[in-house]
Amino acid sequence: MIKFSLVCHEGHEFEAWFRSGAAYEAQSARAQVACPHCGSHTVDKAIMAPAVAKRTEAVPASGPRTQPTQQQYRFLRRLRDEIHAKTEYVGGRFAEEARKIHFNEAEQRGIYGEATADEGKDLAEDGIPFLPVPRLPEDLN
Ligand SMILES: [Zn+2]
Repeated sequence: MIKFSLVCHEGHEFEAWFRSGAAYEAQSARAQVACPHCGSHTVDKAIMAPAVAKRTEAVPASGPRTQPTQQQYRFLRRLRDEIHAKTEYVGGRFAEEARKIHFNEAEQRGIYGEATADEGKDLAEDGIPFLPVPRLPEDLN
């Protein structure tokens, strides 16, 4: 699809989509392209924009991840400090330990650590409660 910016002999500008440049030429030659403002068939191309340009204007359904605000960072830091103070760090064994605790195969306690996206998904599917906490910038150092 190609979008043409068109202008009629009265100077009205409008946009229309065509399957191709040739399709526009054919429809224009048969006077099938009409100005939506005055109905004039004396229409010329103004500027041509490829369909790709349209796509960048669209807002994606799942928008880009936005950065947390300063207030959210403060909350996350407090949350992280609380977690660090009250729970045991189990590192990469988080998913394994969380599962053991859930099924009473290990001591009941609070833990924190790292889990992959797949591990997190498995925990959620097994109904094991956990809280994903976003990494803070200083944690990435
Ligand atoms: Zn017009």
